[in-house]
Amino acid sequence: MKILPLLTIAILFLAGCGDTDSTSPATQATVAAAHGEHGDAHNHTDGLDLELYFDGALAQVASDQACTLADGTQTSCYAITIVGYPTNHDVGPFCPPTTAASAEEGGIWFDGNAVYDIDGAFILGLAQLYDDSNWKMYDDDGRVHITDTVEAFNAAARPDVDPAYQNYCVEGRMEWLDNGAPVTSTVMIPSTPMAAASPTPARGNLGITLNGVIIAAPAPVDAILGAYTIAAFDDSGGHINPFEGYHLHGARGCSEAGEAVAGETPIFGYALDGYPIRSPPPAATAASAALDQCNGHSTADYGYHYHAASAEKNGVLSCFTGLTVQAQGVDHDGGGPPGGAPNFAAAAAILGVTVQALESALGSPPPNFAAAAQTLGVTEQALQEAMAAGGGAPRGAPPR
Ligand SMILES: [Zn+2]
Ligand SMILES: [Zn+2]
Repeated sequence: MKILPLLTIAILFLAGCGDTDSTSPATQATVAAAHGEHGDAHNHTDGLDLELYFDGALAQVASDQACTLADGTQTSCYAITIVGYPTNHDVGPFCPPTTAASAEEGGIWFDGNAVYDIDGAFILGLAQLYDDSNWKMYDDDGRVHITDTVEAFNAAARPDVDPAYQNYCVEGRMEWLDNGAPVTSTVMIPSTPMAAASPTPARGNLGITLNGVIIAAPAPVDAILGAYTIAAFDDSGGHINPFEGYHLHGARGCSEAGEAVAGETPIFGYALDGYPIRSPPPAATAASAALDQCNGHSTADYGYHYHAASAEKNGVLSCFTGLTVQAQGVDHDGGGPPGGAPNFAAAAAILGVTVQALESALGSPPPNFAAAAQTLGVTEQALQEAMAAGGGAPRGAPPR
């Protein structure tokens, strides 16, 4: 594994991306513009362009890694480790402190129908919005119930929400994650994207942003709302859970690189099949863009690329038209938990064991990490770290 120096200009945006002119460094705009010169067919889209990444977004890049795609094709991949936090903007805010709070004091929520500013009025209106009088996320003094300790966060930010945290606005802090550090994730992405014979539904993680964050599966909105919680997103469409750290659920334009030609939108990340993901298309052109069922199309300027669904839909991509790295038994065969299975290939690579050995050591969920570590001859901590770096929660604990 070698670390590639990133030659991008270091520009730190200290305000939230929503408050900032999120224009990327000039070098990135130049690189993006140069893309118009080539790549005009689905099968000829160039692989990912490391120069587009924001400064510091990539913890490690290993190119020319042998990998097997979903159809059995043996090819080469990048193993890319993202840093696990947005390098060009702050994380949060998420939950508003009081029922009088302004939109600036909170983040957003999206539920498949709309994007809402989470301000005090939103908190007050939950019972009406969801037509259920059990909603009351504030005390008699107007203070919003927020997970304000690591214990509360761990109890509330899990699929089976501790009933004690019903009617809590759930938010995490980076310092509450294991070791107080961002959760890095390693993904395998084909060096050259290859179209699949037919689209495959996207399960688990979808890709990576240009600012160092996992693009996750849709948030499990029904489970979140069913527990009378709001898993608040920040204005950039991301939030924190104990397993994956900070991750993105909605495309909000916060990691875009460069400009785009008329009718197009800038690139902000790459899908796990290697195709670029651009922001949702401008409303006026969306109908005429002739997007395929995975929201992708080929253009003369950019070759094949996806457009993210708009954030209110809760989900960036619904399917892949290209081949991703082989399923490793859990990601794409329906056997894994909805919403995020670990990347066993990456974890196995880190540990220096085979995927089969890793899977059989972990057994059926919930995993016994101590026993599995002993079987594999590694420490439990090394196993936990490899699984976290592999990009997912332990099996049996789907992230949210
Ligand atoms: Zn497009
Ligand atoms: Zn989430």
